[in-house]
Amino acid sequence: MIIKFWGVRGSIPTPNTTEHIKDKIRNILKELSLTSISSPLKIEEYLNNQSVINTGVVGGNTSCVELRVDSKLFIFDMGSGIKRLGNYLVKKEQNKNGLEIHIFLSHTHWDHIMGFPFFTPAFFSNNKIFIYSPHPNLKERLEVQQDFRFFPVSLNHMSAKKEFIQLEHNSEIWIGNVRIKNLSLYHPGGSFGYRVEHNDKIFVYATDSEYKDLSKDSIKHNLEFFKDADLLVFDAQYTFEEAVHKEDWGHSSALVGIDFSIQAGIKKLALFHHEPDRDDYEIYDILKKSLDYKKINYPNSKLEVFLATEGLEIEL
Ligand SMILES: [Zn+2]
Ligand SMILES: [Zn+2]
Repeated sequence: MIIKFWGVRGSIPTPNTTEHIKDKIRNILKELSLTSISSPLKIEEYLNNQSVINTGVVGGNTSCVELRVDSKLFIFDMGSGIKRLGNYLVKKEQNKNGLEIHIFLSHTHWDHIMGFPFFTPAFFSNNKIFIYSPHPNLKERLEVQQDFRFFPVSLNHMSAKKEFIQLEHNSEIWIGNVRIKNLSLYHPGGSFGYRVEHNDKIFVYATDSEYKDLSKDSIKHNLEFFKDADLLVFDAQYTFEEAVHKEDWGHSSALVGIDFSIQAGIKKLALFHHEPDRDDYEIYDILKKSLDYKKINYPNSKLEVFLATEGLEIEL
């Protein structure tokens, strides 16, 4: 399985500002010595040794995760991140036989569907796009998004063959040799997590979810769903304190993600759906505090915790 993050931000696309870029440059300049940039080769070396926090971005596009498994292409959510994925597919993989694309939607809040009108593979008539979710009326929901009052091109004008498949709640389907289960998550209007299994690898995508009651009985079904995943993509929009104050806003925190991961035997935990009001330094600070929490509470754990950042690729 290969996973690539194309959109990691929650709620609304969040481009870096001039101030953010200046902060990064300021931090680089503080550490800089003239010998470290005395030749183009040295500059390259210096930049490669810098932390992503200074020389990269966490990413401002909303939820979109690509998964390649069993020579198939799966996409989880079509937030603004799907635009660049679409451009990549058209440039590198479009052919006369057409592409087969399987898109799974957690739910249809804007930040999870807003990229679809810009998804260029949907404009090729030889492509087949399957869109799955347990939510009903998927086609109608996307038609409304592209109603002429809101967008100039209707869903109908996107000429790829589109099929909308409503999954049963908490059911499983097979696509070739890949098994995909869904689980209902607690979120305003409902959201769904997906567990993908192929051979001995397990990937779980569980975003836009709040865990109000952390008692054993209430989280039992979540733990079963997450169990032994090689990678869990988890809604970590809030700090633990915010999550307590923002009850019923439908999101969770990194610390809850760590507790779940330990109990479910997860190998890698990707913190996802970052809060749009935080800059990269604040998001990295959440990671730092999460790692401290893990070290203190689970000193022997081998769980890897990291930030989902735009462009990050992981092979399981
Ligand atoms: Zn969201
Ligand atoms: Zn949502």
